Amino acid sequence: MKRDIKSMDLPELEEYFTQIGDRPFRAGQVFKWLHSGVKTFSEMTNLSEKLRAKLDDEFFITVPELIEKQVSSLDGTIKYLWRTTDSNAVESVVMEYAHGNTVCISTQVGCRMGCAFCASTLGGLVRNLAPSEMLDQVLYSQWDAGCKISNVVLMGIGEPLDNFDNVIRFLQILNHPEGINIGARHITLSTCGLLDNIDKLGDYGIQLTLSVSLHAPDDETRSCLMPANRDAGVDKLIAACERYFEKTGRRVSFEYAMIDGVNDSAEQAILLAEKIRKTGGHLNLILLNSVSERDFKPSGNIEAFTKILKQKGVNYTIRRSLGGDIDAACGQLRKKAIDNKEQ
Ligand code: SAH
Repeated sequence: MKRDIKSMDLPELEEYFTQIGDRPFRAGQVFKWLHSGVKTFSEMTNLSEKLRAKLDDEFFITVPELIEKQVSSLDGTIKYLWRTTDSNAVESVVMEYAHGNTVCISTQVGCRMGCAFCASTLGGLVRNLAPSEMLDQVLYSQWDAGCKISNVVLMGIGEPLDNFDNVIRFLQILNHPEGINIGARHITLSTCGLLDNIDKLGDYGIQLTLSVSLHAPDDETRSCLMPANRDAGVDKLIAACERYFEKTGRRVSFEYAMIDGVNDSAEQAILLAEKIRKTGGHLNLILLNSVSERDFKPSGNIEAFTKILKQKGVNYTIRRSLGGDIDAACGQLRKKAIDNKEQ
């Protein structure tokens, strides 16, 4: 069985070259080639032909194939659909912001978290993505879009903390100065709130922004919307966010998609303000994106809701939605992943 070389970090490559009696600096050469877009070992021209043949015998290089690209006529947001080596479909979105170009990547094929308003979970989980497949979404989107990507958000299909080891390895490779070299502070990881893994992530002390999809301040509503809430509940989640801040020095951000008649009442605004203020974190309000398979509607109560938040001194932003005309907005990345599962 050939091994996936792009999922290996630099120390592992060094160990490999030492083991085969070669020099450790070969690892750096190969690592650079992998991040500069080579698709075959034969392109690694500063390695001997013998070594290139040996690598080709033992390893493979992932090369995603572009199945579809859609560009939003509203804001230039680009949605990519890639085919993996085993014919699964993976979606990524490139967005242009004032602070730089951002790619939103998927971490799993499908999702098993079952959030009631999200389309990505409709077909369940197919499989985890390998570090190389997450890296490819950054590399290939950057090459195709022809722009430098400065920010990476793990907010596409999948639950990053449900694919913990691969995500950590991906982050370490992404962050490496010899690789794409995206600083941790330019990376956001969004989670539905898997408590044990929030604690585990905190232990790594990575300086990324952790964003928790909260969507309701009370257990009754949150457990109804997000099955992941049923085990521990909102208060334990908030406590985990406080521990995360203590360990990393980074305040957690919260996502809140406003849904008509579900999570947009005055009482919920008051309770939300109380919970968020405990953490000192920032709140991103999003208007729910309608998903045809789901019944929920976007809230019409934003003004009254935010008035309360303001009175209570919560730091919040109302986030504009990008790529609405190409189904690239949050929670809408779904179709191909499901079609693929049904094939
Ligand atoms: N599993 C992770 C990351 C993927 S979802 C998480 O739960 O955070 C990315 C974000 O989109 C999450 O905040 C999610 O709650 C939100 N989202 C999902 N469906 C949505 C919808 N229909 N409208 C608005 N946001 C949605």
